[in-house]
Amino acid sequence: MEEKTNLKYFSKNEKRKFFQSKYDYYRSFNRGMLLIAVAAYLSFFFTDCGIFGRFAYETLIPRCIVIVPFLIFRIMESKIKDYRIMVVAYYALIHSIIWLTDWSTYLLPDRQYAMSGMIIMNLIFACAGFAAPFWYSTVAHALMIADIAIANLFLHYNNLHMMFLFNVPCVIAICMMHYLMQNAYLEQYTTKNMLQKMALLDQLTEVDNRNRLREICRPSTSEFSFSSDMDVSVLLMDIDYFKQVNDELGHEAGDKVLVHLAKQLKTCVRAADYIIRWGGEEFLILMPGCGTERAVDIAEEIRKKTEGSDNGVCKITISVGVAAYKGGDYHEVIKNADEAMYQAKRNGRNQVVLYSEN
Ligand code: GH3
Ligand code: MG
Ligand code: MG
Repeated sequence: MEEKTNLKYFSKNEKRKFFQSKYDYYRSFNRGMLLIAVAAYLSFFFTDCGIFGRFAYETLIPRCIVIVPFLIFRIMESKIKDYRIMVVAYYALIHSIIWLTDWSTYLLPDRQYAMSGMIIMNLIFACAGFAAPFWYSTVAHALMIADIAIANLFLHYNNLHMMFLFNVPCVIAICMMHYLMQNAYLEQYTTKNMLQKMALLDQLTEVDNRNRLREICRPSTSEFSFSSDMDVSVLLMDIDYFKQVNDELGHEAGDKVLVHLAKQLKTCVRAADYIIRWGGEEFLILMPGCGTERAVDIAEEIRKKTEGSDNGVCKITISVGVAAYKGGDYHEVIKNADEAMYQAKRNGRNQVVLYSEN
């Protein structure tokens, strides 16, 4: 199974899923970093006091006001999950910390320490890029250079050229780091996706395996998660006298028959149905939104198609049991479909039987 490991091969939708996953993965890390950033910004009030040589009441407002954008961000974060909005909100908060720092710096009697504040801001940008798409972090971080140029209009840094000479290489290096990190996460993401797919796929026939059923259940139950007023039917089918195929034509020929049948089943069901390889030569079809009457018709159609189709090996027939899911443990409906299937075998094979209580 090949997995794409370069974003340029991703569709728009796949890219969105990837960036959402990256955001979700690093969200709590980012939240923690932001808390540290806000706490660090507040604690610089003590530095202000050191610079003033007394209680710095002048910078008390610009220092404390950071709580407002931080709370707005936290409320947004609890309600909005979309990375495209939240990453922008995150960077807006970081830039608002920069502007508040400029405000505090403006009120200070000595501005030579502004450079040390920039070191902290670069670190915060470095952490923010974990959850953000590379281009978002590049634009947001490059805007910090614009922030410095604008702040200089009223702060009149006496070391403006050093501010640029220090920050531009920092921005470039951190953006490069984000690019490498994004690629590293991409590798992890594609590997995880591949393992998840493989865990649910039958390697021979490329239909789902039994693990799929657990995925369809409500968490930690054996109850399907379909709405209770929806009809759900189960078809369980078994190839008749399949052992003979193996014995007479070999195991490889048997495999070919199984692959062909699985392909054919895919053409008979709707996109919402699940085809599961239940055992060696047994397939289960789960049909949400389908009553038993319709399910029996589909089963009959599959049976006829199987009997009449050429799989390149030999003629085969199948016996099918159909049962309705009545809620509760899904093993019950499979047991019923299995019972109906064995009834079909007892009746002479190559037929469909609907389960009934008696
Ligand atoms: P019945 O009509 O009663 O179902 O008869 P049957 O011969 O199909 O039933 P039985 O359960 O005795 O045989 C099933 C056979 O399926 C036995 C096994 O060799 C074969 N089988 C199971 N898994 C595979 C597989 O992955 N590949 C191949 N080629 N054969 C398989
Ligand atoms: Mg069998
Ligand atoms: Mg069989």
